[in-house]
Amino acid sequence: MIIVMRRSVGSDELQQAIAHVEALGLKPNVLYGVERTVIAAIGPEREGLKEALEQAPGVAEVMPILAPYKMASRETMQQTSVVTAGSLSVGGSRIGVIAGPCSVENEDQLMQAAVGVKAAGATALRGGAFKPRTSPYAFQGLKEAGLKLLAKAREATGLAVVTEVLATEDVGLVAEYADVLQIGARNMQNYRLLEAVGRTSRAVLLKRGPSATMEELLLAAEYILDAGNPNVMLCERGIRTFETHTRFTLPLASVSYLQHKTHLPIVIDPSHGTGHTYLVPSMTLAAVAAGADGLIVEVHHDPAHAASDGYQTLNLAQFADVMQRARKVAEAVGRTI
Ligand code: PEP
Ligand code: MN
Repeated sequence: MIIVMRRSVGSDELQQAIAHVEALGLKPNVLYGVERTVIAAIGPEREGLKEALEQAPGVAEVMPILAPYKMASRETMQQTSVVTAGSLSVGGSRIGVIAGPCSVENEDQLMQAAVGVKAAGATALRGGAFKPRTSPYAFQGLKEAGLKLLAKAREATGLAVVTEVLATEDVGLVAEYADVLQIGARNMQNYRLLEAVGRTSRAVLLKRGPSATMEELLLAAEYILDAGNPNVMLCERGIRTFETHTRFTLPLASVSYLQHKTHLPIVIDPSHGTGHTYLVPSMTLAAVAAGADGLIVEVHHDPAHAASDGYQTLNLAQFADVMQRARKVAEAVGRTI
């Protein structure tokens, strides 16, 4: 059930309502929206429950949540959630732009990317320190040394750091350095990992698994929300289809679909979504036109010599050019970038 609190609700009343929900044997999850505070009361529905919840102090309305993803559902929160982590804000009228290399390679490489993407208008820096590679012989990332370089780049540029956490046992370490914990496509249904990032105070970027359905993505997000972390962004990064001309197939209808179903902000990854540098600019613009709340783009000062994913990476001039064009598209759809 969703309990929509009255606009004027004070913290005492809210605490009493939470206690009321618990006394009825349900788990209260409070979501602080821009306009209203709601309590998602999670647990089995039963006869008379709605009426019992309506007795709680400060309540404006009680409604059943029909979607299986109770907290992620737009039924629970009508306004898009704004996720903020340092310099990055995703879900408001300004589109958040996360840019940087696929992998952190060394200090010079990361600094060049960080300074370059910031100058072009990026609002966060990406870079993998723990890399999920298809082959065990491929570059696996600098691990903690890479995290330290990311922290240094944040200090130098002020950009928030977005970096992947691959395993549950690394969550504490990565959370020490990162502003946003990225859950990679291959880990979207690693439920223990989702719970672990859900227990941190860091924002989470949850990437869609290449063969996961929208409902599976939303239920994966639900694990993080249910563990107590409301700062979740969803990322469409392309899915596996019969088609081989692109690395993955990037369905931009996901933006509108997800915005219809969930209040969580939506980020598009045109780099993994296409797998080819020459396709990235147009799909970046298309993502903005489709209404994406954020972008995550791979950028390197010398893509030809990148340690990973160079073939889908923009150089700094290409990124600056696409950002300039994206500004015009954003304006056309009532956003800024
Ligand atoms: C990445 O962002 O570098 C990455 C590995 O992405 P994905 O998990 O979407 O493949
Ligand atoms: Mn990559």
